[in-house]
This record gives sequence, C-alpha cells and structure tokens, in this order.
Amino acid sequence: MATISSFNYSHLEKKILEKGLCSGCGTCEATCPTGALRLKESKPHLQYDCTQFRDSCTICHEVCPHSEMLLLDCIEAVSQAPECNEAIGYFRKILLAQSADTKMRQQTAGGAVVTSLLSYGIDNKIFDSAIVSQSEQKDPARPQPSVALTSEEVVSAIGSKFFPSATVSAYSDAVLRYGKTKVAVVGVPCHVLGLRKIEAWHHKISGRQAMLIGLFCSGTFTQEPMMEFLKETYNVEPSEIKQMYFAGQFIVETEKARIEVPVKEIKAFSRTSCKYCADFTAEAADISIGSGHPLPNTSIVILRTKRGEDFFYEAMEKGIINARGIKQEAKLFEHMIMAALRKRAKGATETIKQGGTVRFSLASMLMETHPLASIKVEDIMTPNITVISSEATVSQLLELMATENRIAYPVEEKGKGFLGIVTMEQASKVDKDKRNETLVGTIANRALKVVFPGKRIVEIFNEISQQDLPQVIVQNPQNPKGTLGIITQKDLMQLFVNGTNKKSNR
Ligand SMILES: Cc1cc2nc3c(=O)[nH]c(=O)nc-3n(C[C@H](O)[C@H](O)[C@H](O)COP(=O)(O)OP(=O)(O)OC[C@H]3O[C@@H](n4cnc5c(N)ncnc54)[C@H](O)[C@@H]3O)c2cc1C
Repeated sequence: MATISSFNYSHLEKKILEKGLCSGCGTCEATCPTGALRLKESKPHLQYDCTQFRDSCTICHEVCPHSEMLLLDCIEAVSQAPECNEAIGYFRKILLAQSADTKMRQQTAGGAVVTSLLSYGIDNKIFDSAIVSQSEQKDPARPQPSVALTSEEVVSAIGSKFFPSATVSAYSDAVLRYGKTKVAVVGVPCHVLGLRKIEAWHHKISGRQAMLIGLFCSGTFTQEPMMEFLKETYNVEPSEIKQMYFAGQFIVETEKARIEVPVKEIKAFSRTSCKYCADFTAEAADISIGSGHPLPNTSIVILRTKRGEDFFYEAMEKGIINARGIKQEAKLFEHMIMAALRKRAKGATETIKQGGTVRFSLASMLMETHPLASIKVEDIMTPNITVISSEATVSQLLELMATENRIAYPVEEKGKGFLGIVTMEQASKVDKDKRNETLVGTIANRALKVVFPGKRIVEIFNEISQQDLPQVIVQNPQNPKGTLGIITQKDLMQLFVNGTNKKSNR
C-alpha cells in the first residue's frame, strides 16, 4: 500500500484506532467519500490509498464520535431543552413507560418502548424506514444492523444485543441504496453522536434523520472472547442464546435456562473504546431510553428535543405507550443519575490518562470569544435557588432531588448561613438504613468555591474548568453568610453554545 499523507485517514488511524477508541459504529464507513473504508470485525480497514482520489480529506476523523471535532454542534441539537442536569444532559421530561402491547413486552426485557415507537412511526408514515439491529440467525447475540421498512421488520429486531453494531453504516444504506428521506435510527450513544456529526458536517447523507432514539449504554463487549467464556464457564452455545440483559446480574437466557452471570466476571470483555466514553444516556438523542429495572418491563424515557417530545406524546395519545412521571420512583431516578455519573467519572479519568481533554475542554474557547467576555457572574447565575437545611435528613434530600430533578443543593446552617454544598453522589454513599437519621450537614462538602456576582465569567472560568468544579456558589458581598445563587459547568456551556444567559437546572 502507498504511503498515506498526514491529512487523511492517518488522522483517524493515529488519533482513534491506534488509541483503541473505535467502537465500530460505522460513521467513518458511512461518510468516506472515496468508499475506501470498510468495517471488518467492528473496525474500519482501509481498502486502498484514499489520497489517490482526495488529498487532505479528514472527514472520517471529524465525524468519528470519539474525536473532539463538531461536538458543539451536537450539543446545539438538544440545548434548546429547558432543563439540564450535570449527569444526563439536556432534557424536557423524564418518564417511566411501557408499550401498551403485551405481546411486544413479553419479547424483551425492557418496556418495548423503542419497538412500539418505531412501529407506530412506520405504520403512520412519520418515518419511511428505521435503522435497527437484528439478531444474526446462527448467532442471535450478534447484532446485524439493518434497514427496516415495515413494522414487522422493526418488531423482529426487538431486544438488546450487547456487541457493537454498525448502525450508522445502515443509515447510509437507507439513504443511498433505498433513497429514504425520513429515517428513524435507534442506537447507543456513539451511534447518536456519529449521526449528529453527519448533520453538523452537512454531509451528502445528512438531512434525512427523522428521529434519533438513543439507548442508555454502559458499554459493549468484545464478542468472540465473551462467547468463549460463556461456553467454557456456563456451557452456553452462541446459537442457543435467546436474550441477554442486565438485571442486577448479567442475564443470559436460552430455550432451556436462565443463567445469572455476575457482572464482575464479564468486565474483562468490555470493549476498550467504551472505557473512554462518558455518555451513559445518549445525550445528543431526540429521545433516550434505558432500563427501568427493577420495575418489570419498564423503560426510563428522557425526552430531549421538541420533535422527540411531540412524537412521544402523540404515541401516548394514540394509546401506543403508557407513561407516568419518574417522581414517585425516587430510587430509580437516583440509580440512573449514579450510573451516569459513574460513567462520566470513569470515562473522564481514562481519557485524561490517555493525554486527552474531556468534558469542559470546549469551553476553553470562551476565553477568546469577545462578545461573551463582558458577561458577569450575576448575568448567568441561577438566583433564588432552593437551599436545604443542614438539619434535613439524607432521605428528605433524596426525595427533594427526585422531585426537582436536581443533583446538588447549597446547604444552610440555621442562624449561620451558607455551610457548603451537597450532591447526590454524597447522599447515595450513605447506607440506605441510615438515611433517615443522617443529617445533610454531616455529609455536605464545605470546601467549595465561592464567587461574587460582579466578577467577569472569564475570570472564574479557568478555575472552574481546571479544577473540574461542577458548580460554584455566588455569595452576597454584603452578607458573607448569604447565598445569592449558583453557577454550574452546564450554565457556562449553555452560554458558550447559545450565546445567551438561559438558566439551567441541576
Ligand atoms: C450495548 C447496550 C448496553 C446497554 N446498557 C444499558 C445500561 O447499562 N443501563 C440501562 O438502563 N440500559 C442499557 N441499555 C438499554 C436497554 O438494554 C434497552 O435497550 C432499553 O432500555 C430499551 O428497551 P426497550 O424494551 O424499550 O427496547 P426494545 O423495544 O427491546 O428495542 C431495542 C432496540 O434496540 C436496538 N438494538 C439492540 N442492540 C443494539 C445495539 N447493540 N446497537 C444498536 N441498537 C441496538 C434493537 O434493534 C431494537 O430496535 C443497553 C443497551 C445496549 C444495546
């Protein structure tokens, strides 16, 4: 093979493939203008020297969900939502839902919400196709990305497959081979990000995405070693597997048995790329859906965009989906937030070890963005925030967090003023049977950054990003014990993305 110049595929090779960041999503294959990239065993392979046809082409790197490029545009797609949470991103509503179709629910471990929504969308011509991941016939656990043109084809792909699927390649097939223009796609967070980047890049296959449904994802596994392990340890043949899912343990169902595999036994088979991912809930999706375990056949649904919300409520009105708010299930909300925070922390740590920058690196541009440079703390802080008493119990705090969808509160000590801040992470560490008697004041973090309202954002920005502080408290300069408001990393991000002072929720 000829030597490849530095501005082309070698970008993808050096920055993504050699670092083990590729998740086999298929975005590079779908967008390569020379058709030089082909996925084999969930990795792109260069078929021939692409520079013969196009020199200085870096599309494959730019649209890769694991590159730092185009991320702002991806956030912009969802950032009009009124709410924002440090762990799960922008959203409009969080619900618990089930398909109204009992038969469908019996075929999957979740609420069959994804399958019902896609089927409804196709039957009612809201979509002209849906990208799903079927089971391979001889090896049912292996996902086979495909273009579903009928609701029967959507239903036949029901259930989660825990190995990589080249979903974005199938999206390109829908557009280029089938000529589809209203394509719905279901995928894990990297699929969703790849698809958003295709839109941001204005690629020739963009403009046909009618709905992006993201699945919560703790990662995929490397298929061959995991299958060998299941065969050796549990005597399960790949062809026998009917379904796999997480329910406390990792459950493998065959015709004859239901095997509970301790999660720690399969950790070693996690794909390397997934260790760097910090997105649990598919934050760039129109609608994100995850497991509502331990509630039977229930899914958690996060509505993020207007089109996602409108579509979901239409399906509810037509009796396709039954849904209710998550507020009554404080524990489930807590579980989702904790899983998302854990994935954020792990992904961030691994990325930093690799020498990469995470999360807030985008906002470093704020320093150079002249029109924003004059904005002050008081302009973007959320004022009049709920303050929790240091004498409230941890149980009361968790209930409040679930009701208000917030994950951090300033803590006030009676007669003394602001004491510190308490987060869901701290509250969740308290043993469940001690939460009724443990006072918030005993777990609050007292070593927090306090800023004054008149300070320019650019001045505090560096400290926030370098120390990776999730939030700072705005103190009343006339009263050292008084709290005026709060600013989170998300507030700064929102300012940066929208150029407005829209307030966020924590
Ligand atoms: C790899 C992976 C890891 C997950 N990890 C978690 C987790 O840690 N916590 C959590 O709450 N939820 C997780 N989920 C999501 C969860 O398993 C369910 O998919 C989700 O709750 C939707 O349930 P449902 O019954 O509504 O979906 P269903 O109606 O059963 O539809 C599922 C849809 O997902 C598609 N699909 C299946 N596998 C893949 C795949 N590998 N790539 C792309 N599309 C696929 C299918 O084609 C189908 O259309 C994960 C899913 C996957 C695929």
